[in-house]
Amino acid sequence: MTDIEQRLAAVHARIANAERLAGRQPGSVGLVAVSKTAPIPAILAAVRADQRAFGESYIQEASAKIQALRALNLQWHFIGPIQSNKTRSIAEQFSWVHSVDRIKIAERLNEQRPASLPPLNVCIQVNVSHEQSKSGVSAIDSLPLARAILALPRLRFRGLMTIPRATDDVNEQRASFHLLAQLRQTLEADLNVSLGTLSMGMSSDLDSAIAEGATLVRVGTDIFGARTATNALTDSKG
Ligand SMILES: *Cc1c(COP(=O)(O)O)cnc(C)c1O
Repeated sequence: MTDIEQRLAAVHARIANAERLAGRQPGSVGLVAVSKTAPIPAILAAVRADQRAFGESYIQEASAKIQALRALNLQWHFIGPIQSNKTRSIAEQFSWVHSVDRIKIAERLNEQRPASLPPLNVCIQVNVSHEQSKSGVSAIDSLPLARAILALPRLRFRGLMTIPRATDDVNEQRASFHLLAQLRQTLEADLNVSLGTLSMGMSSDLDSAIAEGATLVRVGTDIFGARTATNALTDSKG
C-alpha cells in the first residue's frame, strides 16, 4: 500500500468509529478527499483505494486536474470561495458546490450550468463562528438565499456547509456543528423541504462533526499530508 492508501484507510476507520460512537448507520457519512495543492499522482493513489469524490478550492488548479483525469469520471466538489468571474468554470466542471453564499453567485451558476449535465448540487456555506475572515452567510441570511436557490431549476439544493473557527476544544467544535445541524432543521421546517446534506468536519474535527450529524466530511491533510503555509493562507477570504 502507498502512504496515501494507508492514510485513507485510517480516515475510513476514524469515520466508522465516529459513526459507531454516535449510534449512526455504518456508511452514513461520505468522504470528500480534499485534493487542493495535491499533485495528480497523489489523486491517482487515492482513486486506486476507491476514492471517487474530490474537493478543490482553486479553480485554475482544479481545471487542470479535472481535464487530466476526465476519463476516470471522478466526482468533483468545489469548496472554496467563489468569485463571479469563476462561476462558469465551476458550473461546467463540478458536480457539487459547497460554498454558495450569495444570491448572485447562485443565479450565475444556474444560468451557466450546461443543459447536458444534471442540475448542480449546491450547499449554502454558513459562517457559524462569525469570523470576519471566513466566507459564508449568517444563519439569518441563509433563509432568503435558500429560497432563491430552490427557485433555480439548474441547481439542486442539498444542504449546508460550514468551516468553524479552528479549535482543539471538542466542546466548542461540537457547539459550532450543532448550530449548523439546528439551522438545517429550521430551514427544513420553514421551507418544507428535506435537506440531506451537512458538509462539516475536516482533518482536525471530523469526529465532532459526525457526532453532530455530518453527512459529508471534507478531509485533506490526513489523506494527502500537510499543505504549505502559502497555500493554507488562501483557504480563507483574505
Ligand atoms: C482545505 C479545506 C478542507 C480540508 O482541510 P484539512 O484540515 O486539510 O482536512 C476542508 N474544507 C475546506 C472548505 C477546505 O478549504
